[in-house]
Amino acid sequence: MNPVIHGGVGWLVAQPLERRRDRALVTQAAVAPDVDGVGLRVSEDPYLAWHHRLAHGALWAVATAVVVGVASRSPKAALAGLVAFHIHVVMDLVGSGPGWPNLCWYPWADTEWRPSWQWNLVS
Ligand SMILES: [Zn+2]
Repeated sequence: MNPVIHGGVGWLVAQPLERRRDRALVTQAAVAPDVDGVGLRVSEDPYLAWHHRLAHGALWAVATAVVVGVASRSPKAALAGLVAFHIHVVMDLVGSGPGWPNLCWYPWADTEWRPSWQWNLVS
């Protein structure tokens, strides 16, 4: 799914937060998982091998929430960042095309989440 859409949804998740800086951090947390798509700059092979694996898992989710929490000094912002991160993963599960899994427990497990209800229409 498109990072711009993820950012927009993260921005919506962040709206209850009072400080602009916290809203910006949560918006960035919503896009953060797609850092593992940077391989596309090199070629399609590393992109297909690592996207939805490296930064779409539980370790990256926790790291993202910690970064948001430390940067904002707000547990509410950290929680909103964690929510935004997980909405990103769910959106990818639904809208990245059939057969493209997410590895939600990476690096602790290589279990591929490939629900049968993925949209046939990619993004
Ligand atoms: Zn993604």
